Amino acid sequence: MAKKIDSKIPAGPVPEKWKEYKAHQRLVNPKNKLKLDVIVVGTGLAGASAAASLGEMGFNVINLCIQDSPRRAHSIAAQGGINAAKCYQNDGDSIYRLFYDTVKGGDYRAREANVYRLAEVSNNIIDQCVAQGVPFAREYGGMLANRSFGGAQVSRTFYAKGQTGQQLLLGAYSSLSCQVQAGKVKLYTRYEMEDVVIVDGRARGIIAKDLTTGKLVRFSANAVVIATGGYGNTYFLSTNAMGCNCSAAVQCYRKGAYFANPSYVQIHPTCIPVHGDKQSKLTLMSESLRNDGRIWVPKNIEDAKALQAGTKQGWEIPEEDRDYYLERRYPAFGNLVPRDVASRAAKERCDKGFGVNNTGLAVFLDFSESINRLGLDVIMQRYGNLFEMYEEITDVFPGDVANEINGVKYYKPMMIYPAIHYTMGGIWVDYELQTSIPGLFAIGECNFSDHGANRLGASALMQGLADGYFVLPYTIQNYLADQAVWPKVSTDLPEFAEAEKAVDAEQDRLLNIKGKRSVDSIHKELGHIMWEYVGMGRTAEGLKTGLKKMHELEKEFDTNLFVPGTKEGLNIELDKAIHLRDFFTMGQLVAFDALSRNESCGGHFREEYQTEEGEAKRDDENYFYVGCWEYKGKGNEPELIKEPLEYEAIKVQTRNYKN
Ligand SMILES: Cc1cc2nc3c(=O)[nH]c(=O)nc-3n(C[C@H](O)[C@H](O)[C@H](O)COP(=O)(O)OP(=O)(O)OC[C@H]3O[C@@H](n4cnc5c(N)ncnc54)[C@H](O)[C@@H]3O)c2cc1C
Repeated sequence: MAKKIDSKIPAGPVPEKWKEYKAHQRLVNPKNKLKLDVIVVGTGLAGASAAASLGEMGFNVINLCIQDSPRRAHSIAAQGGINAAKCYQNDGDSIYRLFYDTVKGGDYRAREANVYRLAEVSNNIIDQCVAQGVPFAREYGGMLANRSFGGAQVSRTFYAKGQTGQQLLLGAYSSLSCQVQAGKVKLYTRYEMEDVVIVDGRARGIIAKDLTTGKLVRFSANAVVIATGGYGNTYFLSTNAMGCNCSAAVQCYRKGAYFANPSYVQIHPTCIPVHGDKQSKLTLMSESLRNDGRIWVPKNIEDAKALQAGTKQGWEIPEEDRDYYLERRYPAFGNLVPRDVASRAAKERCDKGFGVNNTGLAVFLDFSESINRLGLDVIMQRYGNLFEMYEEITDVFPGDVANEINGVKYYKPMMIYPAIHYTMGGIWVDYELQTSIPGLFAIGECNFSDHGANRLGASALMQGLADGYFVLPYTIQNYLADQAVWPKVSTDLPEFAEAEKAVDAEQDRLLNIKGKRSVDSIHKELGHIMWEYVGMGRTAEGLKTGLKKMHELEKEFDTNLFVPGTKEGLNIELDKAIHLRDFFTMGQLVAFDALSRNESCGGHFREEYQTEEGEAKRDDENYFYVGCWEYKGKGNEPELIKEPLEYEAIKVQTRNYKN
């Protein structure tokens, strides 16, 4: 019988509880000169916004990132936009509707109260970013423009062309820089957290490595916040930046922080398909393109075969022979169904032989109809940089007219296929974003909190900035309130020395294996196992095979790895080896969780549990909980602990995007 835990949430989006929460916020005086130190690890949107806000409130912040500038965090990759319930379109949007869409999009596996809070602060985020000068797209009349993203029937996505993440990060970075200038934030670039230090059961500091010198450094503080992103790169090929790794989160997990819902991995439907085994990265084509692009494969298998053989091109297939399968299957949402639904539908068509490229693993995303209706200029204003990016990578410009049939112009379509993109699982946090280790907080993509089993598009930036600007800076004070009387612990404590010694010994171990295989070759093999057995379609049998293969490969890693160089100075291979060690822990965790969850929900699709129409089949009676995992040592199965979900405002039902 698994243990059960309580999220410590003030039970649901109940107005009375909210009043208490708001009252607490008013007690915080931003002018207070606090003598409390907080370490914030990460400078993506979550980390930079949190560090800037905590600095502004008077805390002394130590902020670290592995890049040479906070502006290079993975968050700059975000293209399509950020959600908020402003209802500028007068299309019936509201905080409740955003809350409802997000809970439904997550297949009723998110914590209801957290999502309500997220929807509630969404509008403040837009105001904050506009005040910082973020250049959101505007309508002709000057109002901020909106577009639609999957899983919603309203237009609530704010955007800055296809560079929303970059513009938001520049805004957060400006605020952060003000606090650096004011002396409230001390920024350490090219520093990587290597372990969290626990003193008397509380997170009191970290061991970090100066990546340019290889020197290990100790930092102590009254609380530690990790904002270190997701674990998508466990799959080797993903849309995540090369530097994304889950090491900080795994270090916290090894030290006792629960890891929640690791099997909830998002596979994005619109990525440029894999084109060979020398690839190390996949490119996302933003979901925003589904506003105007239509997804299709041929109706006739002969056409599909001709496309695969290269004897026919997409633009030679007339309208009546195209199967706009999302519009056919989901008339109410069409091309704007949530990502998990769109990805599975693409896989289903390709599995049936209707794929459109030489590997048979692609579908078309076509702008012919919208360009004919709106003109290329309008489409370029909306997606110009995405069209250019697609051309740079594939040599095909989706705005090029290629054929005319019966007076209708046909443009060159994009080819897309699902790929690993985002991870909904993460370090377990309570309502205040505190992990199961007191004093350790997790925000942004590296926590599990708000997206349930599937994240809706444009909600990650919303969550990261909600956590960083509007939630953590207030909730952390409930923890810090009684810390003000405690002196900051010294980095000379034996706990720091032991942690540092262990990090050092681990580096020696990896350097001394002196085997024959490079980090990348093993990582690529791990990625194949993950995609094959723990990917889009999972079965109990496949997951067990995947786990066995991962154990074998981990042994290979431990005995036949070759890491060149030394631990002194810059050694990127050594850093990658440490990340790969942690991807092994992560991969197994994803498989354990997927194996234990005998249902399909959101991004977790167990082939044994599907409806006759191939939709995910949930089992609310047995799996209506957050699955938290407690580390039990290398090679041992982690222990499952359940946080029961409690819904008060939303009726749990089967997701329906058809009508
Ligand atoms: C191609 C692409 C497009 C996307 N588009 C959108 C979109 O349009 N809308 C949307 O809402 N979401 C989008 N997303 C998702 C969104 O970008 C991410 O979920 C979000 O930016 C994550 O932010 P974060 O701050 O949590 O983490 P990250 O941006 O990943 O930042 C992590 C930070 O932690 C640091 N770090 C990591 N490990 C360590 C360590 N051990 N020590 C020190 N520092 C460390 C890194 O240096 C970095 O500063 C997109 C994602 C991708 C891949």
